[in-house]
Amino acid sequence: MNSIVSSRVFRNYYRQRTANQWHKVEAEGGVPGAIRPFLAGNWKMNMVPRSGVALAARIFDLCRGVKDVDIGLAPPFTGLSMLSDYIKPDFLRTEYDLGRNVFLLAQDTFFESKGAFTGEISPEMLAAIGVDRVIIGHSDRRTNLGKYFGFGSSVARRLTREFLTKELERLKAKGGADPKIVAALEHLVAEGNQEILAGTAKFFEEELKQRAGESDEAIQRKVHAALGQGLQVILCCGENLEARDTHETFTLLERQIRIALDGVSPRAMHDLIIAYEPVWAVGEGAEPATPDQISEVHDFLRNLIMDLYGEQVASSIRILYGGNVKPDNIVEIMAIPGVDGALVGGASLRAKDFADIVKFGLEK
Ligand code: PEP
Repeated sequence: MNSIVSSRVFRNYYRQRTANQWHKVEAEGGVPGAIRPFLAGNWKMNMVPRSGVALAARIFDLCRGVKDVDIGLAPPFTGLSMLSDYIKPDFLRTEYDLGRNVFLLAQDTFFESKGAFTGEISPEMLAAIGVDRVIIGHSDRRTNLGKYFGFGSSVARRLTREFLTKELERLKAKGGADPKIVAALEHLVAEGNQEILAGTAKFFEEELKQRAGESDEAIQRKVHAALGQGLQVILCCGENLEARDTHETFTLLERQIRIALDGVSPRAMHDLIIAYEPVWAVGEGAEPATPDQISEVHDFLRNLIMDLYGEQVASSIRILYGGNVKPDNIVEIMAIPGVDGALVGGASLRAKDFADIVKFGLEK
């Protein structure tokens, strides 16, 4: 055990709700019922298994003796097994004076348990290899899939008069089609000139490329499936720049949270962590949100949870911030009332940076 580190004081956090405001009170030596900060590293599509274990070992070495925060590591699927074998509590305790405060995270999961879903990974599969928590609804998956996979091109290819004519004939022959669809196809076949159809096709192709990704409904199914397998969930939400610029931030966040949590019981909420990640603040080169912006959204989210689940859940749920968290801004971010930790992308790939983030509360 490294006595220098363990004898340092870690500022602990205790929240109180007064006059519609959540306050963070610093206290030394731990407070009963205090919320433990959670610092999670999302490695995204980086690190082969062996280099992931090496990175984890460097992080643990730099974080020796840190017990007052929860630490999460989210390697890609291929790295989970090897890391799971490495981060056994007994080993972490003897080697690094760490223990049960290290959690293995997956970056995503599917909602079905098994079947013809080539390429997908189920919650059962994650639980079976020792995954503790799973990130669901990350903005990379909510918005970027259309761009990478060219969603929309198959729709665009079909928006020709020839295809629509054949489709109309097929639907009529089959019978029972939605009359609205039949009427629209009849109109397009009769009136739509080739140029308008080509323009419409281009419009939808661009739209889908820009915006298509996991829906709120798919995210809801994933949340239920993961919780049902005993995995804890880190549910990401966040507005894009367009929503922020048009003052739609809160409407969008409320929709994301309400749909994702629909049907989740108050009891299951103890296994749920929210990560607020404004899309415009995520990724190398972006600017993190300001403390005022973070504070305003965290208050909003906590009050929303209060409306949905009541005070007990609202006061105990952890709400993390993510978006360019770095060693030089973590102290300021963690000082914001209502911020209980961070989801870290780029900086989590650098052992020293991530360790400094984890150790934000240690007296220097
Ligand atoms: C993320 O991808 O979840 C993230 C917050 O990335 P970064 O820290 O690089 O902005």
